[in-house]
Amino acid sequence: MAALPETVDTAPLPLTALTEEEKFFQSTVRKFAREEIRPYVREMDEAGVFRKDLLKEMFQLGLMGIEIPEEFGGQGGNFFQCVLAVEALAEVDPSAAVIVDVQNTIANNILIRWGSEELKRRYLPKLAHDTVAAFGLSEAGSGSDAFALATRATRQGDHYLLTGRKLWITNAGEAGLYFVFANANPEAGHRGITCFLVERGFPGFQVGKKEDKLGIRASSTCELIMDECRVPAANVVGELGKGYKIAIETLNEGRIAIGSQMVGLAQGALGHAIAYAKQREQFGKPIADFQGVQFELAVMATEVEAARLLVYNAARMRDAGLPFVTEAAMAKYFASQVGENTASRAVEILGGVGFTKDYPVEKLYRDAKIGRIYEGTSNMQKITIAKQILG
Ligand SMILES: Cc1cc2nc3c(=O)[nH]c(=O)nc-3n(C[C@H](O)[C@H](O)[C@H](O)COP(=O)(O)OP(=O)(O)OC[C@H]3O[C@@H](n4cnc5c(N)ncnc54)[C@H](O)[C@@H]3O)c2cc1C
Repeated sequence: MAALPETVDTAPLPLTALTEEEKFFQSTVRKFAREEIRPYVREMDEAGVFRKDLLKEMFQLGLMGIEIPEEFGGQGGNFFQCVLAVEALAEVDPSAAVIVDVQNTIANNILIRWGSEELKRRYLPKLAHDTVAAFGLSEAGSGSDAFALATRATRQGDHYLLTGRKLWITNAGEAGLYFVFANANPEAGHRGITCFLVERGFPGFQVGKKEDKLGIRASSTCELIMDECRVPAANVVGELGKGYKIAIETLNEGRIAIGSQMVGLAQGALGHAIAYAKQREQFGKPIADFQGVQFELAVMATEVEAARLLVYNAARMRDAGLPFVTEAAMAKYFASQVGENTASRAVEILGGVGFTKDYPVEKLYRDAKIGRIYEGTSNMQKITIAKQILG
């Protein structure tokens, strides 16, 4: 069993009950997603590019600096709001959702929690205002085994020289700032891994090949190439050799929002399936009148709700300062399964047209696959859960 949360003095509210502020925030993001993003989803998917004007609007709405304190130009919000934003965006476009997810729950989160005052002052206002960020941990030879990374950092005076290549880095195409993990003391194993804040313009840094992907195609996924990239020693985030801790703890949080991306995606697919089932007629009546279709929709709705509860619970536990690592792994594992299953069933409910690009469900089906891969594969989540239940 996962550890039970501590008791609270007041009667707890239902997990899905939102404060007035949360409701307003959610409806603002939903409106933006439905009115501004939806018309371009197919075009962006086909082009494999996220529109710059939409990215600008995301900054203007405060969606790229949700947890950044107001003194640094952010919204001064909480992690749960990040989860709400990712869910609302994913209902329409999981690519938009992951851009906001990485910016908030990974990049901003690292700087807020681990950055020096100087780094916060220098970079947080940019992250809140106009600068996209990316998280560079994975490499060709180190995915699940992330700490086997081969990128090296060598001290030279008041700088470090970073050499190596990162692979599959979300937001890398648009980013101006990169949180790059490199080993500054390989003899110490993972205790040499350090987090560096790298500006796109630093000498020796280059964004490499952009991946051509199955899903979330409008979200850029690129290689990072560092050839003796000069990074000021002041741009070490947190302590030297503590990068592994930063990476683990940040991903523990980030994956809750990936769960949220999958909940939003599943909700989107369910919505399309319900709408279609009510208007498509076969055998002289809407297919929603057939019990076979009704049962399918009922199961989909139940699973989406269950996944949402896991995600909201993990997010609220994180905001309450309670231990949440197992709950986060469960949320991500289950929600990504629900994302894939729900999108797949939605394609079937739409029948032949569900398989075409004329309707959005085939894209959601393709987009769902990534949920079981990034920020720790489903097997990695099961390892975390099993460790906890076996003691
Ligand atoms: C679209 C996309 C975006 C990404 N964005 C980022 C990003 O922004 N930043 C970043 O750093 N990385 C990013 N990644 C990388 C991603 O986190 C890795 O792909 C993921 O961690 C899996 O690593 P891998 O691909 O090397 O697979 P592998 O680790 O090689 O795994 C292959 C298979 O083996 C299984 N496996 C591995 N080890 C074990 C084990 N011990 N027990 C059981 N099964 C195991 C896995 O579950 C998986 O099924 C992204 C990837 C993609 C595709």
